[in-house]
Amino acid sequence: MADNSAARPGERWKRASLTAAVVVATIALETALLRRRGYHVGLKTIVRCHDGHLFTTIWIPGASLKSIRLGMVRLQYCPVGRHFTSVRPVNDSELTEKTRSIAGLQHDLLIP
Ligand SMILES: [Zn+2]
Repeated sequence: MADNSAARPGERWKRASLTAAVVVATIALETALLRRRGYHVGLKTIVRCHDGHLFTTIWIPGASLKSIRLGMVRLQYCPVGRHFTSVRPVNDSELTEKTRSIAGLQHDLLIP
């Protein structure tokens, strides 16, 4: 088995660059797939909690500091019901002007 600690700095840099490229590609692919399915993910993603509350959150695939990611579901704090619950993005086809305005009134923490 190769000893990674003995790798030359150039090899470590190449490995780190490759890892970063794979991570970025994975996030881009997940974002593209979600958008293709009609989910607008990003800085102003409208989500619905398990109890039906609507709010806006930051939903960046591959990045979450305030939630536990479980694929299309995240466990996080709902600022409307003030509870820790499961939330999922709302498909664009389900959104009306009324639901957009309701969700726009409440935004959770400004961190992903
Ligand atoms: Zn809620």
